[in-house]
Amino acid sequence: MTLTVYNTLTRRQEPLETIEPGKVKMYCCGVTVYDYCHLGHARSYIVWDTIRRYLQWRGYQVYYIQNFTDIDDKILNRAREQGTTMEAISHRFIDAYFEDIRRLNVMDADEYPRATEHIPEIHEMIKALIAKDYAYAAGGDVYYRVERFSTYGKLSGRELEQMQAGASGRVDAEDQEGKKQHPFDFALWKAAKPGEPAWDSPWGKGRPGWHIECSAMIRSRLGETIDIHGGGGDLIFPHHENEIAQSEAAINKPLARYWMHNGMVMVDGKKMSKSLGNFTTIRELLDRPVDPMAVRYFVLQAHYRKPLDFTDEAIATAESSWKTLKEGLLFGYEHGEKLGFDNNGNNLDKEIINRFEESGDDDFNFSGSLAVLFELAKELRREGNLLVHEGRTEIPPEELAKQWQTLVTLAGVLGLEAKVTEETNNTGGITEVEIEELIQKRQEARKAKNFAEADRIRDELQAQGITLIDSREGTRWHRS
Ligand SMILES: [Zn+2]
Ligand SMILES: [Zn+2]
Repeated sequence: MTLTVYNTLTRRQEPLETIEPGKVKMYCCGVTVYDYCHLGHARSYIVWDTIRRYLQWRGYQVYYIQNFTDIDDKILNRAREQGTTMEAISHRFIDAYFEDIRRLNVMDADEYPRATEHIPEIHEMIKALIAKDYAYAAGGDVYYRVERFSTYGKLSGRELEQMQAGASGRVDAEDQEGKKQHPFDFALWKAAKPGEPAWDSPWGKGRPGWHIECSAMIRSRLGETIDIHGGGGDLIFPHHENEIAQSEAAINKPLARYWMHNGMVMVDGKKMSKSLGNFTTIRELLDRPVDPMAVRYFVLQAHYRKPLDFTDEAIATAESSWKTLKEGLLFGYEHGEKLGFDNNGNNLDKEIINRFEESGDDDFNFSGSLAVLFELAKELRREGNLLVHEGRTEIPPEELAKQWQTLVTLAGVLGLEAKVTEETNNTGGITEVEIEELIQKRQEARKAKNFAEADRIRDELQAQGITLIDSREGTRWHRS
């Protein structure tokens, strides 16, 4: 099977052919650190994390970089509002980013470059662009000359003439002093305003524009051309268009082979965003509480390029689906001993793997992969119920062991993991030992014909989610 990827640049699904065989250099635009991340960010980083995990599963060595934009008007405004520094704001929200995103089982990137750590590289690239006449200095600012880059607009499919027509008569708020030669020229370097952090530069004290940081960081950390550049669909224009214009003009080589973009999280038909105020932060959602794995499930059950509607019902559905998958994932921990599972076995079901990969290889269609796992989990749950209620399974134990190990392995590829200790040994505060003790006491009460006491114990267990099943062989129990 060939892994194919939808490339925004060509608007086609193409076989993944990396620059170096077996290796993927991947860069995704990170967050501007001035506030807590919301579900839109969660979706993005869960998607890139899962794509990265899947590529690793398919045998690629993935080098993944994600930046932090730690200098920006939004950060400066927030610092001003709170009477503190830009550094303090970005430090606080970088910490918050890690707290939130790690709860969602998103793996750490290989590197997290920051804009403020790359000022020399940013200067180098701006100098190269000026030398090639792709950029010009104007009153302490430096602008990129979009008209000089003949393929400007190739990623977003916009043409400069159309954009100009659409923008005619509109006042450019960024350019009140008329420094730009063309309305779509964008800032590579901005002259310092009083009281703002600033760095020395050949063009005077100032700070970098937003787009140049990604170009400079990719150049210095990953080289000239990378395999995959990812980001939210809302970054295609202008951010990624401008990254291409900068890097390709400076280096004369493609910036990325594949441009990938995730769809937006929608609330009542509108994109979830800070500016619209219709957002739910990751921590708000998780503290409801919603299981972080249910959030992952919610994200992965939709195709990554499609819009994803955020509603309470959608979250509830994801929670219930995750519960089913979790039961499947815990099957071996709950019943493995009884069934004589050998936990060290690594005997996976090829047929299931094939179906899982068929979807994954098709432009990371994880909703299809997830459906394969969901069916498998349902089957294991059914077998688990049979075992608890009737003391037998329909499928032979060796086959169940194989299915279970396959499920755990493939769910792990999607970053979906069930916590064993917490869930199986200590749900609701009652341990297996305590349950067995209560069942023992109930047996004694029944022998002594104290049925009121026996019923009381049954009710007490039921209240903690433990169902008892009496049979001739004795009393079995399961968590409901
Ligand atoms: Zn970027
Ligand atoms: Zn039952």
